[in-house]
Amino acid sequence: MPADETATITATPAATFPQPKLSNGHWQNLEAAHTSGVYSKRPLTIVRGAGAHVWDDAGNMYIDCVGGQGAANLGHCHPAVVAAVQKQAAQLLSCPEIFHNDQRAQLLQRLVELAPPGIERAFLCNSGTEAVEAAYKFARASTGRPAVISAKRSFHGRTMGALSLTGQDKYREPFEPLLAGVTHVTYNDVDALAAALTNQTAAVILEVVQGEGGVRPADPQYLLAAQRLCHEHGALLIIDEVQTGIGRTGRIFACEHSGVQPDLLCSAKSLAGGIPIGAVLIGSRVGALPTGLHGSTFGGNPLACAAALAALHALQFEQLPQRAERLGSALMQTLRAADLPGVREVRGLGLLIGLELKSKVTPVLQALQARGVLALPAGNTVLRLLPPLVISEEDLGCVQHAVVEVLRSNL
Ligand SMILES: *Cc1c(COP(=O)(O)O)cnc(C)c1O
Repeated sequence: MPADETATITATPAATFPQPKLSNGHWQNLEAAHTSGVYSKRPLTIVRGAGAHVWDDAGNMYIDCVGGQGAANLGHCHPAVVAAVQKQAAQLLSCPEIFHNDQRAQLLQRLVELAPPGIERAFLCNSGTEAVEAAYKFARASTGRPAVISAKRSFHGRTMGALSLTGQDKYREPFEPLLAGVTHVTYNDVDALAAALTNQTAAVILEVVQGEGGVRPADPQYLLAAQRLCHEHGALLIIDEVQTGIGRTGRIFACEHSGVQPDLLCSAKSLAGGIPIGAVLIGSRVGALPTGLHGSTFGGNPLACAAALAALHALQFEQLPQRAERLGSALMQTLRAADLPGVREVRGLGLLIGLELKSKVTPVLQALQARGVLALPAGNTVLRLLPPLVISEEDLGCVQHAVVEVLRSNL
């Protein structure tokens, strides 16, 4: 199927879904009464999605540039993923890794095939933070060294190991003291990285584009220098592709842009087309990992594996990485040329796009929502656009129009 036809893919027709009966804030009040409180929520109840569209409980449609916070690269309810999940749900839902499984075996093979050169094996888990946690443990165990170097402004997840690697005080401070042995260096600064590496460094962990940290792409030369420095010091290079992977930046994995070869590559978010999953791809420089070293009850479960197989097939079949590259670079070019007041910089890679504003992003997000476009922040002043890669050119044109209109208006 040519890439442009992806826009015509639709999920199950709306008529077959039972419409929620209670509106007027019923679900919001119910959630507010019982939720933990750790999330700041928008006053919007999303009840359905198809492709790049979502609907609220009053039936209003939005163009979704939140993209499941990175979990909806294939669009909502991609028909191939839905079909695979339905089929597998009736076949076998859980199967711990004390047994072999047909879906898992195929996914492990596929992941190693699609991975950058040097990757030989994979470990499956259930989320991004778990993938980072596992990569951290594998690096410590494999090298026998205690220290890890990460970047300032990085985001690697919320469990205590991944949080220790995360380079943002706002996430870290309530939980200090965190793991010892973690140093945070300035991103894109080769000299700073070289100065921090020692013979006690187990690993360096980097994102190819810092997502949460403000949509900041790495200089390709920086990533290659990090690889070289890791090799020189006997350390492992962990690349966190939880947000940049699965086609988002114009390649299946964003490592492919620079040719950097990670020893451990973390994937999650869109890997199973919206079903929870995480994976660590493991390279030849990682030593053998002994039985019992790590594990997860739900890791490698047949449902997530079947969904991931369908998602990876659709990603390639519909040429979604190519689509992300083409649509993303055109959108960035247009937004730069528009020379919008209040915008310091437009940056990104593929369809991972950030607009650094001169003021707070919240009013911009609200104004976009009022125009039917949902988007994300990345920090206080960066507007982040993460549309599903299946978004039609027409819808992306609407997003562009809304962004230009909102940023030209006096908020
Ligand atoms: C989202 C994200 C994580 C954490 O993933 P979860 O599935 O939310 O635990 C880790 N690293 C990066 C780069 C991310 O964007």
